This record gives sequence, C-alpha cells and structure tokens, in this order.
Amino acid sequence: MRIALIAHDRKKDDLIQFVTAYMSILSEHDLCATGTTGKRIIDETSLPVFLFQSGPLGGDQQIGAMVAKNEMDMVIFFRDPLTAQPHEPDVTALIRLCDVYQIPLATNMGTAEVLLKGLQEGFINWRLLEERRS
Ligand code: PGA
Repeated sequence: MRIALIAHDRKKDDLIQFVTAYMSILSEHDLCATGTTGKRIIDETSLPVFLFQSGPLGGDQQIGAMVAKNEMDMVIFFRDPLTAQPHEPDVTALIRLCDVYQIPLATNMGTAEVLLKGLQEGFINWRLLEERRS
C-alpha cells in the first residue's frame, strides 16, 4: 500500500512519535510525505520516504493528484485545528478528494491508530483490487 504522511508544524512531534510506535507496520509499505514532514521522518526513524514539495509549496496538492489518479491508498494527515494555515484551501481540497475517492484518511492520532491496526488486519486489502493507473 502507498501511504501519505503529513503533519502541520505543531503536530510534527506527534507524527514522529506515531511513526516510531508503528514503524513495524509502516516499514512494510511505500511511504511518501510532504517535504518537511518527510525529512523529519527520514532523519528521526531512517524509514525510506518519498518526498513531495513542502505542504505550503504544493505538497498537499501533489498528494491530492495521486488520490485522484488512484495512486494513493491511505492518507495520515495530522492537522493543527488551532492554527490558521496559509495553504488552507489545499488542505481542504486534499480532504475532499479523499472523500470523493473513498480513500482512508486519518486527521488525528486516534483515527490513525485504528487505520493502521485495520491495515494490519487486512481491512483495507480491497485497495489491492483497485486497478492502478500507474
Ligand atoms: P510540510 O507540509 O510537511 O512540508 O511541513 C505539511 C503541510 O503543512 O501541509
């Protein structure tokens, strides 16, 4: 499965903690991330991560484009609901596309844990039956 990892600045520590805790599951999948989030994951966990642009510079839109092309299986996006983001329209657009294409999306750690446990149990294996376009 291809999993996108994104965290707003004040949620990046939480995401690193989450990725560290679930490293054994995450290491079995293709990981990608927005630029700054991904660089921190690489530096602090040594997991291989494909890096998109930083979120405010288009990274969320790049991940949204992959959702629209059926090339993303799960999005874990630790949003900061208490801080205004300059790229709020991009954030909203990515969440909207996940809903359009029924892509499992977690916007906080509580849901992300359930998604990864579901992933481990095979609850998202229906994604493997979806025809990849690339
Ligand atoms: P970043 O982007 O990982 O480059 O900080 C995250 C975001 O704000 O969407």
